[in-house]
Amino acid sequence: MNKPLQPQAAGRWLRQISREAGRQLAMLRDLTDGPAALAPFIEALEQVFVANDPRSLLLRDGATRSVIGIYCILVPEELIYAVGAIPLRLCGGCSSSCAAGEEHVPRDGCPLAKSSLGLTAQPGLAVYDLCDVVIVPTTCDAKRKFAEELSRFREVWMLEVPHLKDSEISQQAWLLQVMALKERLEQHMSREQGRRVRITAQTLDQAIQVQAAAQSQMRRLQALRSAETSPLWGRQAMVAANAFSFMEVEAWTRAMRTLNDELEQRQIAVCPARAPRIFIAGSPVIFPNLKLPTLIEELGAILVADESCVGERALYDPVGHPERNLRAQLIALAARTLMPCICPSFAPNEDRLVTLRRMIASHRVDGVVYHVLKGCVVYDFEVGRVEAVCKESGVAMVRIETDYSPEDVEQLRTRIEAFVEMLVQRKRR
Ligand code: SF4
Ligand code: SF4
Repeated sequence: MNKPLQPQAAGRWLRQISREAGRQLAMLRDLTDGPAALAPFIEALEQVFVANDPRSLLLRDGATRSVIGIYCILVPEELIYAVGAIPLRLCGGCSSSCAAGEEHVPRDGCPLAKSSLGLTAQPGLAVYDLCDVVIVPTTCDAKRKFAEELSRFREVWMLEVPHLKDSEISQQAWLLQVMALKERLEQHMSREQGRRVRITAQTLDQAIQVQAAAQSQMRRLQALRSAETSPLWGRQAMVAANAFSFMEVEAWTRAMRTLNDELEQRQIAVCPARAPRIFIAGSPVIFPNLKLPTLIEELGAILVADESCVGERALYDPVGHPERNLRAQLIALAARTLMPCICPSFAPNEDRLVTLRRMIASHRVDGVVYHVLKGCVVYDFEVGRVEAVCKESGVAMVRIETDYSPEDVEQLRTRIEAFVEMLVQRKRR
């Protein structure tokens, strides 16, 4: 069952991934009025999925660093940087790898789990092959069982995530998980480097500041996207955010600062001010699966925000400024990863509704497209609550259930076209 594909089949499979990603990147390059500073993000994804050579992305201070695979924003990336490695976010968005993943994930399982498993089970794509160790937080059922299957191919460290984040017991339990992860990372890197490697208050402080700089640039981008006329397409913003998964954090921050500077200076609107402003809520949108954002924007609307955990949510609140004391820093880091996270694997999850209400207002949203990946029960459970928030906020919502396959594109086109048309009529009134 776990047998890798034969060499020529693996070659074919890699070509499929390269074509799938290459098509999306070409489409982004062809969009009129695209900012020049988007290029480093497109190139990064090209290196990973098309050239299959991510080496230039894994340099830090001129040297290639060890990499650790991660599968959720609940992994405190600052610890990985503090120990001298680079985190690679491996949640899969490739349709071409779902078939291989289906050998390990039930037919009704979510495409994210299928794609991620397929990309690991079939050797060939370098970013996946490079990661001997991967960290998987136990959020939803799919992630938990996915981690167990993944352990057939990689050393998997599971992070036990509490589901009631407001209780003190949960917060303590999560802090213990974060502390245990720190030790595990130290042991792993010590073994790998043949010398004692320790995370100190100084290295962690530096990592926290580096990550905070990235978060600050992401917030700047969000502020620009909330303007009355959007300076870039939502797909372009999503791709820049997705590139964070594979770029060294300081390189990504530099690229994002340049992009924000360009957007502030050139003051070009990519679409007419009357275009309906859409927010994508729900299951994550992961490159190269840009099916939904592309349809929305091709049909005359503009994506002004999303809550995808491979987008804005990946870089939310920074760590509170703790004293330069390792224990205080770990407490702040544990709090930063757990408390603001609005993933629906938490219950109760009122925070998500508060965040959505705020974003709908601040981005002057006209309509919400609620994205449900087939098999993603946790997001689907919250659809009614989100619909109520939309109603209260006076915006329309449509629920779209899909997977990574291109087969339903025409059917989705019809539904989204009707939704966008309805928003246009509403705006005219
Ligand atoms: S949806 Fe939730 S569990 Fe999945 S990666 Fe995002 S934050 Fe983690
Ligand atoms: S939260 Fe949804 S999309 Fe993410 S792993 Fe779980 S089931 Fe899949």
